[in-house]
Amino acid sequence: MADSSRTQKLDLVFQHIRHFPDFPVKGIVFKDICPILKEPKALTAVIDLFEEHVRKNHPHTELIVGLDARGFLFGPLLAQRLGIGFILVRKKGKLPGPTLSVAYTLEYATAEVEIQADAVQAGQNVLVIDDLLATGGTLHAACELLKKQKAQVLGCLVVVELKDLGGAEKLPVPVFSLLQF
Ligand code: AMP
Repeated sequence: MADSSRTQKLDLVFQHIRHFPDFPVKGIVFKDICPILKEPKALTAVIDLFEEHVRKNHPHTELIVGLDARGFLFGPLLAQRLGIGFILVRKKGKLPGPTLSVAYTLEYATAEVEIQADAVQAGQNVLVIDDLLATGGTLHAACELLKKQKAQVLGCLVVVELKDLGGAEKLPVPVFSLLQF
């Protein structure tokens, strides 16, 4: 993609993120990605930009792993575009059958994430996707889960990265973010 087209797409994505101070608790500026979903051109831009990155940097990706819940909004579209599968990492208690779980701390809560024990095969190349990287706790927990299953985590993809929280430095793999705040 031409640099000018990439810049245009990034601008479009940027224009479709809203900022809500003090939600869900005081001190957090919540980045709302809902307007992206409401504008097909902005959603297409997100997927175009992720697709370009994956094809260039991780051409051997076999699965996209989406995080509960907003990773589910972008992950299947990207996986479909790439012609590969999509699997879910969910909050505890939502997935049927045998599961593996990891507990972690969020920017404003604690939680536990789960994956179905047969979701990924040992050695499979996977990329993890979510809407936003804050402290990195959620993506770190997902990477731990995938490590338990002996998957090869190639990297993480997010629409928004909150740089000041240093989440990327805590992760065992590179993070690709469309926008940084
Ligand atoms: P963390 O584990 O701290 O990196 O938090 C990332 C997860 O929490 C993502 O699934 C986000 O959807 C959500 N999250 C954390 N902080 C924010 C924020 N400021 N705005 C929107 N979502 C957030």
